[in-house]
Amino acid sequence: MALFELTQTDRHVYATALQDFLPDELFDIHSHLWLESFWSTPKATDMRAVSWPYLVAKDNSAQDLAESYRLLFPGKRVVPMVFANPEPYDDFALHNSYVQTSAAAYGYPSLYFSHPRQSAADVERGVLEGGFLGLKSYLNLAPPHIPEPSIRILDFFPPHHLEVLNRHGWMMMLHIPRTGRLKDPINLEDIAWIKRKYPRIRLILAHVGRAYCREDVGDALKVLSPFDDLLFDFCANCNPQVLEMLVESVGVTRVMFGSDLPITRMRMRRICENGRYVNLVPPGLYGDLQGDPNMREVSQEEGDSLTFFLYEEALAMKTALQKLGFGKREAERVFAGNARELINGVQRETYQKPGRWEQA
Ligand SMILES: [Zn+2]
Repeated sequence: MALFELTQTDRHVYATALQDFLPDELFDIHSHLWLESFWSTPKATDMRAVSWPYLVAKDNSAQDLAESYRLLFPGKRVVPMVFANPEPYDDFALHNSYVQTSAAAYGYPSLYFSHPRQSAADVERGVLEGGFLGLKSYLNLAPPHIPEPSIRILDFFPPHHLEVLNRHGWMMMLHIPRTGRLKDPINLEDIAWIKRKYPRIRLILAHVGRAYCREDVGDALKVLSPFDDLLFDFCANCNPQVLEMLVESVGVTRVMFGSDLPITRMRMRRICENGRYVNLVPPGLYGDLQGDPNMREVSQEEGDSLTFFLYEEALAMKTALQKLGFGKREAERVFAGNARELINGVQRETYQKPGRWEQA
C-alpha cells in the first residue's frame, strides 16, 4: 500500500501548475523526522488525546520522507534538511541520534534539536559530533512556569546557545512564539536584539514568522528591514498576499522553500477570516475538530476537490512570484538555490568538506 493516495485533482494540480514551474532539484530547508516509538506519551492508546496532526501522520521515518517526495514531486530530486520533532518529556538524545543516523544514511543535511536546559558545551558537542549544521528548538521547551502567551524567544533559545551558534556561524531555525506572531512587538524586539548581538548566526524565521494572514504581518517587514541577511522559510504558509509582501520587501535571495513534512501531507485549503486562519478540510478525515477554531470541515463534494497543503504552499509562492513579475529563474532561487548555498556554506565552514548531498 502506498504511504498516501493521490487523487485525480492532485495529479492535475502537479502536472498543470507545479511540475514545470518548479526546478528539477528542490532544497527543502525544514522537515521533521521521528518515530512514534520515541514519544514518551503513547498517543494512539487514548483516542481522546488524538489530535489532527497525528491523523495526518503518526510519525515520519526517513524512508517515509523520501517516499513523500517521490509521490508529491515525481521527476524531481529533493534534498531536505531534517530535524527532530520531540515532545517536551521525550528523550532528546534518542530523537537526535535517529536524525543523525538517517541523515548519514540518506546524505541529508540536518539540525540538532536543543533543549534550553542544556549547557553551551553540551549543545556544541551535540552539533559537532553528529555532523549537524545548527539548532532547532521549540517554544514548548520554555520553563513550565511561563504561560504560553508570555513565552519569549530567549526562553527556549537561551543566550549561551546563541553564543555557540554565533561563534560557529551556524543555522538557527526559529519558530517564533506569541499570539501576535510576526508583528508581535516583543518578538520583533527579540529578533532585532539577536541580530545585533549575534550577527554571525544564520537566523531563519520559520513559516514567515507564522504570518499566515495579512493581519499577522503588521509593520514587521519594515522593522526588520535593517537586517539584510535575515532569512525566511515559508513552510506551511500558503497565503499568496503574505508571500508577495515578503518577497517584495526582502527580495528573492532570502526566502526559502520548506515542507514542514509530514504535516503538509494534509488535504486542505486555507482561508483567513477576520485575521485568523482556518484550514478547510474534507469531512471525517482528521477526527473530531470540535473546539478547534483553526480547523473546519467542508462538504464531501468540496472535500473531494482539496489537494495537499504542500501543493497549496507551492502554488501560493507561484502566485506571489508571478504577481511581482518573477518567473522560473526566481523560483529556482526560492525553491532550491538559496537553501543550497546556505547549507553548503555552513557545511564547508564547519567541517571543511562537502556534504554527501553535494555528491549525488
Ligand atoms: Zn516545523
